[in-house]
Amino acid sequence: MHVPFFRPSITDAEVKEVEDTLRSGWLTTGPKTKRFEEEFAAAVGAPHAVAVNSCTAALHLAIEALGLQPGEGVLVPTFTFAATAEVVRYFGGDPILVDCDPVTLNLDLADAEKRLATARASKVVGIVPVHYAGLMLDVARLRDFAVRHGLWMVEDAAHAFPAAWRPSSSSAWQRCGEGTSDIACFSFYANKTITTGEGGMAVTADERLAERMRVMSLHGLSRDAWRRYEKGGSWNYDIVAPGFKYNLTDVAAALGLQQLRRADALRVEREVVARRYLDAFAGLDALELPPMPLDRLHSWHLFFIRLRLETLTVTRDLFVQALGERGVQCSVHWKPLHLHPYYREVYGYTPEQFPAAAAAWTRLVSLPIFPGMRDEEVRHVVESVWSLCREHAR
Ligand SMILES: *Cc1c(COP(=O)(O)O)cnc(C)c1O
Repeated sequence: MHVPFFRPSITDAEVKEVEDTLRSGWLTTGPKTKRFEEEFAAAVGAPHAVAVNSCTAALHLAIEALGLQPGEGVLVPTFTFAATAEVVRYFGGDPILVDCDPVTLNLDLADAEKRLATARASKVVGIVPVHYAGLMLDVARLRDFAVRHGLWMVEDAAHAFPAAWRPSSSSAWQRCGEGTSDIACFSFYANKTITTGEGGMAVTADERLAERMRVMSLHGLSRDAWRRYEKGGSWNYDIVAPGFKYNLTDVAAALGLQQLRRADALRVEREVVARRYLDAFAGLDALELPPMPLDRLHSWHLFFIRLRLETLTVTRDLFVQALGERGVQCSVHWKPLHLHPYYREVYGYTPEQFPAAAAAWTRLVSLPIFPGMRDEEVRHVVESVWSLCREHAR
C-alpha cells in the first residue's frame, strides 16, 4: 500500500466553482477574489483581507507596509520555512534567528529576549512568529513582548487556518487573524489546510496597512486602478510606488471559496487522524508525540513526531527512508534556517547557538495527515511505524 504525504481534498463543489469562473469570461482578479477576501476576513474575524498569489507574497507586502529599512533587524524563528526570513532580506534587513521551545517547537520568547539584547543589527523593529504545525503560540505573551520592545508583529500563519487559542478556559476563543497581530499571513499552497493551488492572504485590522498592501500587490497602481475590474471602472490609473505583481486570480479564488466553506470540516478530518495517531502511539516509547493543549484549537496542518534516538538503532534519515520503503511517504519540517549555507555564511551561525532547534531537527519526522485519509491508510502508517520501531529497538 502507498500512503502519500498529502492528498488534496477536492469535491464537485470546487470543480463546479472553477468551471463557472472559466466560463464567466473573467479569469484574473475580479468578483470571486473580492468575495474570497470578504468571506475569509469574516472567517477569521478580521476587518480587512488582501488576497495574493502566495503566503510569501503576503509576508513581503506586510513587511513593506510596515516600512522595514536596510540594516534593521527582525526576530524570526530559526525553526521555520525559507519564506519567513527571506522576505526580511528582500529589504536588506537582518533576520535575527531565535531558538524554539523544546515541546511545541514554536519560537521561544525567553530566547528572543536574549537575542534582542545582543543583536548586531542597528535597530530591531519587528517579530515574525510562526504557529508551527497549526498550534498557536501564546498570543497575549507575544503581544506583550512586542509592545514592551516597541516591535511590530507579523504572524506567519501559513499553518494556522483555522486555528484559535484562549487565554484561560473561562475566556472566549480568539481566532488566528482576529486582531492577534498587526498583520497575519496565510498560505493556500497545494498542501496547506485549505488550498487555491498557489495563493495567500494578508489580514489586518489597520485600514492604512491594508490599503498599502493592496496597492503594492498590483504594481503600485493607485486605488482607483482596482475599479477597472468593476462595471463602469475607469481605464485611467496612477503609479504611486514601484509595486509588485502579486494579485490572486479568480480561477484560484473560485477554488478557495469552496475550500473555505469546508474549512472547519476539513480541520475536523485532520484532527480525527491526529487523535488516532496519538492513541495508537501512546505506548510507543521510541516516539515523542506532538502536544495537544486544551486551550488551543489546532489546525493539524502537520503531525510531527520526534524519535527518541537513544532507544533506536537507526537515524532519522534511515527511519524516513525505511517508512518510504513500506509505502509511507514522510517529510521533515524543517531543517532550521541557521543550519543552511546562506544563513551560516552570511551571519556566521553555528549549530550550538540554537540548541533546542538543532536537537529537534535530527529527530524530527512529519507523518502523512490530510482530510479524506482512509482508515486503512492511517492503519498502514501506524503499523509501519510500530514495526519499524520494534525492528530497530536498541
Ligand atoms: C508554506 C509556508 C510558507 C509559504 O507559503 P507559500 O504560500 O508557499 O508562499 C511560509 N511560511 C511557512 C511557515 C510555510 O509553511
